[in-house]
Amino acid sequence: MSEKLFCSFCGKGDDEVDAILSGKSGHICNDCVSRANTVLNEDLDIEDELSDEDFEFDEENPNEKSNKNKQLSVENIDFEKVKPKDIKKYLDEYVINQDEAKKIFAVAVYNHYKRLNYLKKLKEEKKKDDDVIIEKSNIIVIGETGTGKTYLAKTLANYLKVPFCIVDATTLTEAGYVGEDVESILTRLLQAADYNVKAAEMGIIYVDEIDKISRKSANPSITRDVSGEGVQQALLKLLEGTVVNVPPQGGRKHPDQKMIKVNTENVLFICGGAFEGIDRIIKARLKARPLGFATDINTGEMINEIDKKNPFSQISVQDLKQFGLIPELVGRLPVVGYLNPLTKETLKKILTEPKNAIIKQYQKLFKIENIDLKFKDDALDYIVEKATEFKLGARGLRSICESIMNDAMFELPSKQGIKELIIDKEYASSKLDRINRHC
Ligand code: ADP
Repeated sequence: MSEKLFCSFCGKGDDEVDAILSGKSGHICNDCVSRANTVLNEDLDIEDELSDEDFEFDEENPNEKSNKNKQLSVENIDFEKVKPKDIKKYLDEYVINQDEAKKIFAVAVYNHYKRLNYLKKLKEEKKKDDDVIIEKSNIIVIGETGTGKTYLAKTLANYLKVPFCIVDATTLTEAGYVGEDVESILTRLLQAADYNVKAAEMGIIYVDEIDKISRKSANPSITRDVSGEGVQQALLKLLEGTVVNVPPQGGRKHPDQKMIKVNTENVLFICGGAFEGIDRIIKARLKARPLGFATDINTGEMINEIDKKNPFSQISVQDLKQFGLIPELVGRLPVVGYLNPLTKETLKKILTEPKNAIIKQYQKLFKIENIDLKFKDDALDYIVEKATEFKLGARGLRSICESIMNDAMFELPSKQGIKELIIDKEYASSKLDRINRHC
């Protein structure tokens, strides 16, 4: 009589199942085979989904998950035809003023994707790159909070129709410490690309608050600096281009988790920060002289008078190092842009002029209800006045408008026969004052 067999997985004997297969050092029953089959199929399905290469972005909403299964567009942009001026023209429709920054961004992005197309062509033609290697042009942008750093980066991504994500540098830590690993940035990008690895690898990552991970002094620290220098070091690798094993759902890596390999070589990084206090560093470097000139104390170079309105316009890589960014990181961010503080005039334009200006958005909302919404000039001035008072930059405009418009948006849909609503200063201040009184 033959020996009784037991399934090495579920432990059932051969008399309890239909069949048992024997291996070199174990056995498996038919139930466990079909269970294993189901599990494997589920996994393969996920993998198929993750490597989906047909991809395109939704015109309206390039970062939404609906982007799946269409053609990636940045590949279709012909950089022989699209010039930096075209990129700036697009930015002009959405971003008010900030011409210098727009030009810097337009050139950097143009060069970045031109380089990618060039490398792609070389690869297709199976040619080797010649001795001049064009390096990646990651960007660092400096400007007070709410001046549109993130918005500029996002608008660019919209234009290029590439995956875009925003990460906050202050939440990152070196691997092994409490907090998010630097690699988690790529999980976000993968999610924005709906797990299309190829698309993600051509995406844009905006790293906000880069100034908050500066080391505390310009001299390298002897002790470990978990939140500052260490994170900068970890970011370095991503910025210069490396292949990273990324956990698709984020969180800590663990041994049996399925990882996705992402190459950051062609990912464009835009780092932004307010760099509070850097104006003092810039001014100290540029020693003012009588007769409206200044001299760079490091180079001895004479420059025109320090721009009192925005000293950022004279920022140099030295200032960034002095502020506490490690030299290697500064070296990986060769394009330096700055944003001007927002004047009242600019804030007013932001309210009304961009293609998707806040006021236009409210007017559209009311139009759906067949109500003609008008803002008087004094109301606009009042909103700008309050935004300046709250020191939130353009970010304050939206919440102020929301407070002013909320009652009307609540009441009017249930009222009949209202064809027009005019917001003047008196109306605006009555709504805002009432809210402020409750606060
Ligand atoms: P930052 O990143 O510099 O702190 P944001 O980019 O988040 O500021 O700006 C906040 C909001 O203000 C944006 O979402 C945008 O609506 C508006 N905004 C700021 N600057 C401009 C600008 N120059 N033109 C149009 N809108 C702007």
